[in-house]
Amino acid sequence: MIPYGKQHITDEDILAVVETLKSDYLTQGPKIKEFEEAFAKYIGVKYAVAVANGTAALHLNCLALGVQPGTKVITTPITFAASANCIRYCGGEVVFADIEPDTYLLDINAVRNLLESAPKGTFSGIIPVDFAGRAVNLEQFRILADEFDLWIIEDSCHSPGGHFVDSKGHRQNCGNGNFADLAIFSFHPVKHIASGEGGMITTNDEDLYKKLLMLRTHGIVKSDELYTNPIELAGGKDFYPLWYMEMQELGFNYRLTDFQAALGLSQLNRAEKGLERRREIAEFYAQSFKDDTFLSGSSGVIQGHAYHLYVLEVEDRLGLYNHLREKHVFAQIHYVPTHLMPYYQQLGWKLGDFPKAEAYYEKCISLPIYPTLTNEEQIYVIQIIKEFYA
Ligand SMILES: *Cc1c(COP(=O)(O)O)cnc(C)c1O
Repeated sequence: MIPYGKQHITDEDILAVVETLKSDYLTQGPKIKEFEEAFAKYIGVKYAVAVANGTAALHLNCLALGVQPGTKVITTPITFAASANCIRYCGGEVVFADIEPDTYLLDINAVRNLLESAPKGTFSGIIPVDFAGRAVNLEQFRILADEFDLWIIEDSCHSPGGHFVDSKGHRQNCGNGNFADLAIFSFHPVKHIASGEGGMITTNDEDLYKKLLMLRTHGIVKSDELYTNPIELAGGKDFYPLWYMEMQELGFNYRLTDFQAALGLSQLNRAEKGLERRREIAEFYAQSFKDDTFLSGSSGVIQGHAYHLYVLEVEDRLGLYNHLREKHVFAQIHYVPTHLMPYYQQLGWKLGDFPKAEAYYEKCISLPIYPTLTNEEQIYVIQIIKEFYA
């Protein structure tokens, strides 16, 4: 069986987890900080906050940015549902905008149209997604966001190690916080770095960073300077007693465990190599399909793409999908557009709202791509596809 994505656990990974299990900390120990620092370094960002999963990361971001009932946030329909759901967790309103048909990314012109069609102040933020691993040009989104006084959360779940090149010719890594206020990553097994469940928030903003640390642990602070209750109420005399802590906001328990952090850290050491292999696989697919007419859309290799997914747009997608399954190749479809999920249809979205996203969904199929996919397996996948269309 060849899946579309798969984790890779080495003996080293296992050893790292076992060592942590034998240590004094199962959660919130030294591995968390180590993982956060190493991850921040890998991305090239000041702060990183490890959390329970990517969805929790999105939720905390929305809380930290003050999303509440009435807050309107723009995102793409071609993403995992969590990119939009986080807005709803805080009672905010999701406003979808269509994708660019050639990149499958949130179309900045569609976003601009939305912003210009409403009084200034109507919208509060944008959540662009580095879909499939392709980096959104956040420099352009930042200019637009500043014009309309918006924040940006970059959903980088697909793109650790990905980048775009800005107008000055500088490489801008996904999640580096140079243009977005906050970015998030996931360490679900199908993503580049696996920790079982797990997620990371990255930012260059110190205030947001501190707020996220508090919200990750119930909204509790433990620092004399931050307390708002008087010392006497806390049970002390001249200073706050050592046991004292304060819950100042309604936070959550969104912590990652130390042994998950140990696994993530061990995996992070191989992230660069895994990314190289993904790009090699993408290159080989692109080469192999370059003259095929059953494809539409571009199949060339894109600079800075992290290739979480390798997507083709094909004729008779259902036929190909079933044919692949018969041959034990489990391709996948990414994604059923979020606005067509029954939950979002109940909120008023409907078929026809986003013609480009819907046209993409009719044809898209994600082929197997993961670092341990062998050349033989890839050749087999390509052969089956060509055979189907022959
Ligand atoms: C995986 C994913 C998430 C959610 O991450 P989890 O760790 O599974 O909660 C959010 N957005 C995108 C684009 C994803 O691919």
